[in-house]
Amino acid sequence: MHMQRLTLDKFTSFCKTRGFVYPSSEIYGGLGGIYDYGHYGYLLKENIKNAWIKSMIQDRDDVTLLDSAIFMHPKTWIASGHVDSFDDPMVDCKHCKLRYRADHLLEEFGIKIDDKASIDEINAELDALRHAGNLKCPNCDSKELTSARRFSLMVKSNLGSTVDKLNDEDVVYLRPETCGGIYLEYKNVVETLHPKFPFGIAQVGKAFRNEIVARQFIYRTREFEQMEMQYFHHPDDTKQKYEEWKQFRWNWYLEYGIPENKLQWYKHEKLAHYATDAYDIKYKFDSLDGFAEVEGIHARGNWDLSQHSKYSGIKLDFFDPERNEKFIPHIMETSAGLNRLLMMFLDNAYHEQEILTTDNEGSGKKDTRILLRLDPRLSPVKIAILPLMKKQVLIRKAKEIFNNLKKLYICEYDESGSIGKRYRRQDEIGTPYCITVDYQTLEDNTTTVRDRDSMNQERIHVNELKVYFAEKIL
Ligand code: ATP
Repeated sequence: MHMQRLTLDKFTSFCKTRGFVYPSSEIYGGLGGIYDYGHYGYLLKENIKNAWIKSMIQDRDDVTLLDSAIFMHPKTWIASGHVDSFDDPMVDCKHCKLRYRADHLLEEFGIKIDDKASIDEINAELDALRHAGNLKCPNCDSKELTSARRFSLMVKSNLGSTVDKLNDEDVVYLRPETCGGIYLEYKNVVETLHPKFPFGIAQVGKAFRNEIVARQFIYRTREFEQMEMQYFHHPDDTKQKYEEWKQFRWNWYLEYGIPENKLQWYKHEKLAHYATDAYDIKYKFDSLDGFAEVEGIHARGNWDLSQHSKYSGIKLDFFDPERNEKFIPHIMETSAGLNRLLMMFLDNAYHEQEILTTDNEGSGKKDTRILLRLDPRLSPVKIAILPLMKKQVLIRKAKEIFNNLKKLYICEYDESGSIGKRYRRQDEIGTPYCITVDYQTLEDNTTTVRDRDSMNQERIHVNELKVYFAEKIL
């Protein structure tokens, strides 16, 4: 298989032209770091989300779901430490006015800075480069770069009706991560669902961060979706549960077709004072030319519940009858970005393949087909139904099959253009199967089922199609 490197520009353009991802507000010139999802992007995102929910809920018996609000009481983010310290170090180029994340800028000079590094440590590294005459703007080469300053990632908002009850200084924020809602609803979940200990609460939802730079397409955006699970456990079990969750999440990536050699663990060396372990899963993006984080798995101790208990004055402990012990549960977190995973699955699925086609005169010519080798469970469209030619008898039969199968799967019916072009279109959006209705179908009620990846074709009886696909598309 012939494979071209997928540059970020080419990837972005592919996602737009095939109806996956559009830059937001394009008719007004766009809005940095914000994207919209088209028909196929929406369906793919839903399928990834459902695959995650299935693994958390259907494949296990110790996790429940939650959908908490984006707005939360302002004290939430004071208790969690976000108001004081959820920020990134920022450097400005005085010449071209581009803004950089200082840790990313240093990385360009081969200097790795940990998430928890202080602003002084970062400025010391920048100064060392500056004194050696090496610090310059990656865009315009100017040496006029500012020192690093902290830039808050919290997105402020205002809520008319609540401000009456809040103090003037209480600012309402759009949540920067979804897990805050899980900590606040922990008590209600315990009191209403009576989960057996240990247990997890999972949720998928929007989060907002005022990212300094959002130049990597949907990898880093200012509005995004997270899929987070918080596992409440006894501190004695942390080590064992941590290993189990790491393995569980790693296997999920393999199950949905990410090759193991494109995945990597990254261990955080500097930990938050309350944390006992923190690893990220990194995926090797072709479109970003290297490994980048897609999910964090963090052992957070009992910091979150202790803080919310302290600030709210409400006890958030748990009585475990099996241990006959009351304690504040410790928390294990798995936190993945839905949009980042969508980018990962598309990046991994994208292939360019040289194939031989036959032109109108019957002679062979080389061509390139683009195909998305998505796991069929993730594919936006599962089956395309195509009459071989635009003839009424074939159209009627194809529509009959389409109307039957669409009750079970997202299907597309397409009669426009040559059959080759229609196959190609489906390959490009990752449709795993195409059914072609030809003249033989009218004689013996069999159709051709074409497989996206191998391009092999099998004749399957119309009455057998449902069983055939039930085995292929789980
Ligand atoms: P990064 O270091 O890339 O900024 P982070 O370590 O701040 O990410 P977390 O706060 O651990 O990220 O968030 C968990 C997950 O949420 C990340 O692994 C990522 O998949 C996703 N995520 C975080 N920020 C963004 C963003 N701005 N855009 C898209 N996804 C994001």
